[in-house]
Amino acid sequence: PLVLGIETSCDETGIGIVRGTQLLANTVSSSMQEHVRFGGVIPEIAARAHLEAFVPTLRQALDTAGVTVEELDAVAVTSGPGLAGALMVGLSAAKGLALAAGKPLYGVNHLVAHVGVGLLETEGAAPAGLPPHTGALLVSGGHTEVLRVGSLTEDVELLGSTIDDAAGEAYDKVARLLELGYPGGPKIDALAAEGDPQAFRFPRGLTLPKFVGTAQAPGPHRHNWSFSGLKTAVSRAVEQFEQRGEPVPRADIAASFQEAVVDVLTAKAVRAATEHGLSTLLLGGGVAANRRLRELLGQRCEQAGIALRIPPVSLCTDNGAMVAALGAQLVAAGAAPSSLDIPADSSQPVERIRA
Ligand code: ATP
Ligand code: MG
Ligand code: FE
Repeated sequence: PLVLGIETSCDETGIGIVRGTQLLANTVSSSMQEHVRFGGVIPEIAARAHLEAFVPTLRQALDTAGVTVEELDAVAVTSGPGLAGALMVGLSAAKGLALAAGKPLYGVNHLVAHVGVGLLETEGAAPAGLPPHTGALLVSGGHTEVLRVGSLTEDVELLGSTIDDAAGEAYDKVARLLELGYPGGPKIDALAAEGDPQAFRFPRGLTLPKFVGTAQAPGPHRHNWSFSGLKTAVSRAVEQFEQRGEPVPRADIAASFQEAVVDVLTAKAVRAATEHGLSTLLLGGGVAANRRLRELLGQRCEQAGIALRIPPVSLCTDNGAMVAALGAQLVAAGAAPSSLDIPADSSQPVERIRA
């Protein structure tokens, strides 16, 4: 099916167009620069920016794909989770488009879309469907979750999640501590390449040291993460250098922080997958763009005999193609369209795949 996907849950206005698992267009306009001086996304500014960017972004995506609205089989849109005002702009536009063109509307879950984008064909790779026994590691600005994905259209189960900060949030907060600017993920990723990841031994939350990287760990938080202690440890390290009047070794701190995040993310994801008999893992979300995460998860999945699928970087951070991809899966599965009065669901849980 030919599906157009609309994404406006945060600060990216994304319009993607797919035909089944084939990517035809992925146009993204970001209001990120307008938020830089505030050090984080300001919801009202984001919503206004979506309103301004929507029509030009839509036009460009349709041009790139070489299709018209009349040819579409369906319109998919992020219904949540995300910023309520931002979501509402995309939802209103999607409803208008669906109503005017007489196309079915699919409200989809942003988090499941981050994972489902892994099924798009890239660089000539075979468009395999979802293999049995698949799991997912979702790491983004607002979420950190390990999932069992029985079916992208009707069966997603939460196996573990962060109990405080999301991984991307930790990157953004530590980048602020190191005065690297916003958004922090890409800046720390770059600076870490110049530092020593072993310079500082930062804590791996909710993990007994002897269990890191192994398949066993006791306790109720066996598949959960915590990143708030790590952030505090980094803040203390920075303070110690400042109090002594010494220059802060930013690159070493960035590299050691990143190593702590990636170590515990990968160890726990692989452990959860192994314990649940999952033999394929999809990686998704903005933090999936991180070079060290891609590398270490690749190594640990290989050791554990798990097939890993990582989307290209351009499909990891927020975009419309991921929404279109999940929409196309829903159409292909014969799922019922959403009603035209679906609300924005700012805290839509990952198990609620569609609105
Ligand atoms: P959610 O998907 O949970 O609603 P979001 O949509 O705001 O949150 P994404 O766009 O999926 O989040 O991801 C943005 C996050 O990814 C930010 O926290 C950003 O710092 C982080 N990020 C982006 N690139 C990298 C990178 N190379 N390394 C680490 N983190 C990164
Ligand atoms: Mg963003
Ligand atoms: Fe996202």
